Amino acid sequence: MRLPPRAAAKKLAIQVEISIILAVVRLTQRIAVVGGGVLGVMHAVMARRRGYEVVHLEREAEARGASVRNFGLVWVSGRRAGAELGLALRARELWEELGAAVPGLGFRPAGSLTLATDEAELRVLKEAAGLPDADRRGFELLDQSAVRAVNPALRGDLAGGLLCRADAIVEPRQALPALRGYLAGEDYQWLPGREAVEIAPNAVRDHTGAWHHCDLVILCPGATFTGVAGRYLGHLARDGVRRVRLQMMQTAPLAERLTTAVANGESLRYYPAYDLPGRAQLPPVPPVAERTRAQLLLVQRADGALTIGDTHEYAEPFTFDVDEDPYDHLRARAEALLGAPIPRIQRRWAGVYGEVTTENPLAAGRGLYHRSEVEPGVVLVTGAGGRGMTCAPAIAEETFR
Ligand SMILES: Cc1cc2nc3c(=O)[nH]c(=O)nc-3n(C[C@H](O)[C@H](O)[C@H](O)COP(=O)(O)OP(=O)(O)OC[C@H]3O[C@@H](n4cnc5c(N)ncnc54)[C@H](O)[C@@H]3O)c2cc1C
Repeated sequence: MRLPPRAAAKKLAIQVEISIILAVVRLTQRIAVVGGGVLGVMHAVMARRRGYEVVHLEREAEARGASVRNFGLVWVSGRRAGAELGLALRARELWEELGAAVPGLGFRPAGSLTLATDEAELRVLKEAAGLPDADRRGFELLDQSAVRAVNPALRGDLAGGLLCRADAIVEPRQALPALRGYLAGEDYQWLPGREAVEIAPNAVRDHTGAWHHCDLVILCPGATFTGVAGRYLGHLARDGVRRVRLQMMQTAPLAERLTTAVANGESLRYYPAYDLPGRAQLPPVPPVAERTRAQLLLVQRADGALTIGDTHEYAEPFTFDVDEDPYDHLRARAEALLGAPIPRIQRRWAGVYGEVTTENPLAAGRGLYHRSEVEPGVVLVTGAGGRGMTCAPAIAEETFR
């Protein structure tokens, strides 16, 4: 039957409208992110920046993993020259950008001071200050009085310090909810209390039975090497991914401001940037620091509290309780640098991160983290180790590149 011309034009207009809507629906790609830690949240941020719809699953009511247990250090200073430093510097830019848009992150470009208490440690700091990439890190070697001019709270006995202007601080207990608040809208769906239990190409099923079909699933399970990611991580464990447990503590607020983050000379033994000739001349650390692989890192929270750590335990099964000996050691080290007692310890906790230990030729990440397509349309990203908070935004950016 022939329609009158006006009705035919109307029908055509409706058909055009429907095909435009279908095209838009097809163009708006949908991403499912599993894991509400910093890697999951940064993938959600980068996906939304590119216009994708995001559904975000987290098995707990709120993230409880390494991302809320860390120092909140955006730590450039100790990174290995080359790819690791490049990733950390790009991440530092992205954190600063996000910090301007999301004040709840508590981003502060505070810098850090790594302090020497003897000549051997000072020698390593001098060598670090002379590195070809010292400018990119914002390194400057300071004597005792210059250290105190930068950070007057450091009244203890010091041989000198290495200022790193590139280091920064965020508030780990606030950052993830703040970023989710920034994403809030109809194209971002946060689903806490949903554990991903099954993976299929381009889809993930949560424990309620709901399937989330999408263009891409991004699994960011942190140090959970069992469960849905377990079948992929089984072979990764052989290929160099391990878990590390750290002990931490936090004091009541200190009345005075600490203008920078602080590290002591023990950290010179561990961070790759300080793998310099002077390292071999460093005296041994006390047995408790050797046994627990302790190094002092000290960060003041926005409310004045001091987050103090850390230790490193590599052998599983990990201890389930916390050991007081390294806490005594770290407290004594902090008080020696501040030249004053620290406030009462208010909180103690332990955290676990996963880290790649060797470069896996099947994975992207250059040995700095693991990323691989484990099923068609399903990508696993984990293993960023002690650099995960720092590098998360740049890692997420690389996933979308
Ligand atoms: C004590 C400590 C201090 C640290 N300090 C720093 C620091 O100052 N600077 C720095 O750069 N790095 C630091 N790190 C490292 C950094 O915190 C981690 O690399 C980073 O937080 C890892 O983020 P993630 O998102 O991969 O893991 P996580 O934060 O562990 O998040 C993973 C999330 O996935 C969820 N999940 C797992 N399986 C499922 C599933 N099947 N379904 C749904 N959800 C699931 C978990 O519940 C969890 O919330 C520190 C780590 C620790 C432990």
